[in-house]
Amino acid sequence: MSTVSEIFNDARKERRKFLLEPEAKTICRKYKIPVTNFEIAENETEAVKFAEEIGYPVVLKIVSPDVIHKSDVGGVVINLKDAKAVQNAYKQIMDNVKEHKPSAKIIGILVQEMAPPSTEVIVGATKDPQFGPAIMFGLGGIFVEVLKDVTFRIAPITEDEAREMITEVRAYPLLKGYRNMPPADIDAIVKILLNTSRLVTEHEEIKELDLNPIMVYEKGAKTVDARIILE
Ligand code: ADP
Ligand code: MG
Repeated sequence: MSTVSEIFNDARKERRKFLLEPEAKTICRKYKIPVTNFEIAENETEAVKFAEEIGYPVVLKIVSPDVIHKSDVGGVVINLKDAKAVQNAYKQIMDNVKEHKPSAKIIGILVQEMAPPSTEVIVGATKDPQFGPAIMFGLGGIFVEVLKDVTFRIAPITEDEAREMITEVRAYPLLKGYRNMPPADIDAIVKILLNTSRLVTEHEEIKELDLNPIMVYEKGAKTVDARIILE
């Protein structure tokens, strides 16, 4: 597996503006940020083989340097429960991408573990020209998109700051459990915030980072999509 600098170097050589999801997730792993297991398949047979190794249900996604928002081109199919579903999704994604973006260079299809639905949070980082990278936290979906219920701290952040970030968003009570949702593992989110802070502090080549969404469980958390934009 490539090292963090190798991944950044490859992207720079190819003049890419962002990392592919498997590259971004490999970097996350090196920084102990939990991500869904994945493999890159180059044909249907391989996709089925990987799905069986990973375990059903799985998710299939397009891997292309020309596609940054994968669902916009029909490049994501979730909850695939058997080999037949994987084969169909593989064909469907290829067709969708060819239709929406005929010029897209296709590296392969990402086969990944399906993270069970849960409370979704977002961790991000953006670079301020004056203060350097800032870390963002919020709950996913409408909380960030509609209500802009997010909070920021300049990196590097301390553990106390990470805990403050989590408790100061308005949606925080949802993390303590509601209706049939169990309480979320706050310590797991704290670790992700601290490791993200370390990652962007140690790598100036990161212009923007987006872990969106992260599923948070009663025990542990899992990053479902990771985007890293380069300087
Ligand atoms: P995009 O590039 O469009 O942001 P994502 O990888 O975020 O693509 O996939 C779109 C959506 O599909 C996610 O926001 C999430 O709701 C769902 N999804 C993607 N991957 C998984 C997964 N491994 N487990 C569960 N849900 C997933
Ligand atoms: Mg996404």
